[in-house]
Amino acid sequence: MAMPVICRPSQFLRRKMIHCPVCKTRRRMTVVEALWYGATVTCCGCGDSWTDGEMHERPFKRGWRTEAIAKAKRDWDAAGPFDKAAHDAWFREQHDETEITPAA
Ligand SMILES: [Zn+2]
Repeated sequence: MAMPVICRPSQFLRRKMIHCPVCKTRRRMTVVEALWYGATVTCCGCGDSWTDGEMHERPFKRGWRTEAIAKAKRDWDAAGPFDKAAHDAWFREQHDETEITPAA
């Protein structure tokens, strides 16, 4: 049996304080960046997420909000304080991996 190959871009996790339109106040938000994709922002207060400013559809599942808030808080802890040097290094590394070198 062949194993499926799942290609997932490398991600960079960071923290931000942003005004949440659902909570109607400034909240802790986790931001997941991946090269070539819009950043996904998740509110630690309500669990709602946005990509490129567009709100994600809420799952039709009991308890989704509690799970989403818990995950956002875990990501917040995992992100640690934002380090611009680490972010720049990650960005350069991603760019170098995807750069196409023309054949000579
Ligand atoms: Zn919120």
